[in-house]
Amino acid sequence: MKNWSGTVTFQDAQSHSPATVDELAKIVAKEGKIRARGSAHCFNAIADTNAVSVTFENMSQEIVIDKDRAIVTVPAGMKYGELAVALHDRGWALHNMASLPHISVAGAIATATHGSGVGNGNLATAVRGLEIILPDGNIKTVTSQDPDFTGFVVGLGLVGIVSNVDLAIEPTFNVEQTVYRGMSREIYAANLDEIMSLAYSVSYFTTWAAAGGGEVWAKFRSGVNAPAGLFEAYPATSNRHPLPGLNPEPCTEQMAVSGPWHLRLPHFKMEFTPSAGDEIQSEFFVDRKDAPAAIAALEKIAPQINEILWVTEIRAIAADNLWMSPHYQRDSIGIHFTWKKVDAAYEIVKVVEAVLAQFKYRPHLGKVFSASPEYLKSVMPKMDDFVKLVQQIDPENKFGNTFTDNLLGR
Ligand SMILES: Cc1cc2nc3c(=O)[nH]c(=O)nc-3n(C[C@H](O)[C@H](O)[C@H](O)COP(=O)(O)OP(=O)(O)OC[C@H]3O[C@@H](n4cnc5c(N)ncnc54)[C@H](O)[C@@H]3O)c2cc1C
Repeated sequence: MKNWSGTVTFQDAQSHSPATVDELAKIVAKEGKIRARGSAHCFNAIADTNAVSVTFENMSQEIVIDKDRAIVTVPAGMKYGELAVALHDRGWALHNMASLPHISVAGAIATATHGSGVGNGNLATAVRGLEIILPDGNIKTVTSQDPDFTGFVVGLGLVGIVSNVDLAIEPTFNVEQTVYRGMSREIYAANLDEIMSLAYSVSYFTTWAAAGGGEVWAKFRSGVNAPAGLFEAYPATSNRHPLPGLNPEPCTEQMAVSGPWHLRLPHFKMEFTPSAGDEIQSEFFVDRKDAPAAIAALEKIAPQINEILWVTEIRAIAADNLWMSPHYQRDSIGIHFTWKKVDAAYEIVKVVEAVLAQFKYRPHLGKVFSASPEYLKSVMPKMDDFVKLVQQIDPENKFGNTFTDNLLGR
């Protein structure tokens, strides 16, 4: 089996797909090394193992809503797209979605997967509780009352195998999506705060070509009117795909047509393959106030980037308190690269990292990056505490793999 991009061949010696939490707990107790896997959408080997993997497709897909507390309990392996439909049918919503709905809830929160919006934390910030299986097979509930709760949430699969997740929900809402075409990087960078604050969720798509404008994808909550123009950019007159020239059919409805949150906040529809398919992704987060300077610094290597780029997407993510979140206590701008699937992508990533190091970038841990544990420790203030928490929960390193050993320098 391979990951979604086909760039990592999983080395599992054995795999289990339990149907109940009790069955999962027994498997965890019995096995030596064991690693949880969601929908395998990460671009690196974080979900790999050369021992035993456990997957969640046979587990219940039932959700339980606590209306009084506005919390939904979700089975770990459920896909966001399925959860969203179940919530909307009952009159509820999540605060945000990633660009695609195909990913599992536990897998997404384990890497701090995010959408966009200056006021929106990443998807893991909606977590209010976790049911986890400990290395000995005991089941533990971790809630926000737990002193280390904010260490458990973005857990990288290392602080227990998650069986159920409690997420904050709100009454369902509608969104209208407008794409503005013809926004140059120069104008965008000069007005970044204003543009990213324009709507509930805003993405800027661009290549790094010298000429030609990018696009602003603005997702307004219904009731807020989209302006007729945005600096030099104007609303598209037909649906767009984020990748220049591609058919927009896989994309969620645009043209300011109002629709439920889950059919507008992701860029891609559940029933289609998202993005280019043939690609590698990486993403680096900088402090929002440093973003214009970071973009200016990247301009110097624009031709190099552009040689192997499908597209760049720039998004905003609100600061949080989750230890391994790249948005920890920092209102962030994510500068994302969808690379062509070529070996040179792994080399250009190092060049981009060298340029962004002056801004103390933090990488998306589910995408391609090359930062050393020493660098990560220097920019992620809670990494040492996370290593201690992992050591305390899993002293035998039952849940780790080569990738996480390298990541944490264990
Ligand atoms: C086309 C495409 C678009 C993307 N768009 C975005 C985007 O908009 N925003 C963004 O932030 N990222 C995005 N990503 C990256 C991706 O969504 C995340 O990295 C996410 O973690 C993948 O979730 P998954 O379910 O596939 O997890 P996997 O890749 O299967 O696993 C990821 C991690 O989660 C752990 N895990 C999985 N299940 C459990 C469990 N039950 N208990 C404990 N740990 C568990 C694994 O051990 C591993 O460490 C995109 C990826 C693709 C392919």
